[in-house]
Amino acid sequence: MTHTTVAAYAAPSPKAPLERTTIPRRALGAYDILIDIKFSGICHSDIHQVNDGWGPGTFPMVPGHEIAGVVAEVGSGVTRYAVGDRVGVGCFVDSCRECENCLAGRQQYCTGTGMVGTYNSTGRDGQPTYGGYSTHVVVDENYVLRIPDTIPLDVAAPLLCAGITLYSPLSHWGAGPGKKVAVVGLGGLGHLGVKIAHAKGAEVTVLSQSLRKQEDGLKLGADHYRATSDPATFRELAGSFDLILNTVSAEIDLDAYLGLLKTGGTLVQVGAPENPVPISVFALIGGRKSLAGSMIGGIPETQEMLDFCAEHGIGAEIELISADRINEAYARVETSDVRYRFVIDTSTI
Ligand code: NAP
Ligand code: ZN
Repeated sequence: MTHTTVAAYAAPSPKAPLERTTIPRRALGAYDILIDIKFSGICHSDIHQVNDGWGPGTFPMVPGHEIAGVVAEVGSGVTRYAVGDRVGVGCFVDSCRECENCLAGRQQYCTGTGMVGTYNSTGRDGQPTYGGYSTHVVVDENYVLRIPDTIPLDVAAPLLCAGITLYSPLSHWGAGPGKKVAVVGLGGLGHLGVKIAHAKGAEVTVLSQSLRKQEDGLKLGADHYRATSDPATFRELAGSFDLILNTVSAEIDLDAYLGLLKTGGTLVQVGAPENPVPISVFALIGGRKSLAGSMIGGIPETQEMLDFCAEHGIGAEIELISADRINEAYARVETSDVRYRFVIDTSTI
């Protein structure tokens, strides 16, 4: 048998609505795992890519890189997982395995072949990769995560991208007791950033477009909640933060946010807007400030994040949807109408 055919939701062409289809999954290699996908999160990155917002993609495109499921079958050489294990897959399914970053477990920054994306990418076999809006996926065991028993699979799925994307910079820049951290945008990434930063002991402020979600933000663990539509926010919070994580999917005025940093503070860009964003260097040099970026996390750090979330009782706040509501969910994410992650029940595909 060369491959199996499974059901999926795909965008047939750029910007087109997603529709039900079938796709091939490769036959199990010695180190491969067949995963019965239970839940798949909808990340704003899926929408950027379906819309060709980051450049031309490969179509048909089956998005989905927040995958939670159960091992259904293992290849002859698999040692790390067994049938029935609860597992996850994030944004990549392979990398060169030989460069400095891969050897250090930072596969997301692979400088050899580059990471192989879970979808909209090309696998080792030269075939296009298809993501988690599907019933099954085949992944090399080295790129599979273990989901701790205490985290339900539906709320675990978004941790595989949104969770690690905030956990990694919060760790790298030392968010913890005594540190003032701001999270810009309370969406899928932002709400997990609030939970994780709070669990790490930092003092957390949400900077949202309005106060519409203030009550939620405080419940998630934020200490303060301010509206960025109010100019007083920028005046009163000037020079306040050690670390700002910008999760916004659109272009915003970075100079204004750099003004909120303490001397020596860092603004980390995790949101990935489709167009360049101008900055004035004076917003940096006047306070020895840093503007940085961060992309998801490597396999060891993603496992560490899942274990951290289990220890602190952290999962995503989700709205579970059937697959026929994917297009409606996309429209709602695009208008910031998400509380706080849409997750597809893949049994409805
Ligand atoms: P999301 O759920 O749509 O959240 C983004 C939030 O940003 C919104 O909820 C909204 O929060 C705020 N926002 C949206 N448009 C805005 C605008 N025009 N001006 C000001 N604020 C705005 O998206 P997500 O899934 O969290 O993803 C966010 C971004 O991160 C996307 O660009 C995505 O591609 C990127 N991403 C990057 C990585 C990485 O590794 N770096 C990983 C995953 C995703 P409020 O309503 O609170 O203002
Ligand atoms: Zn994502």
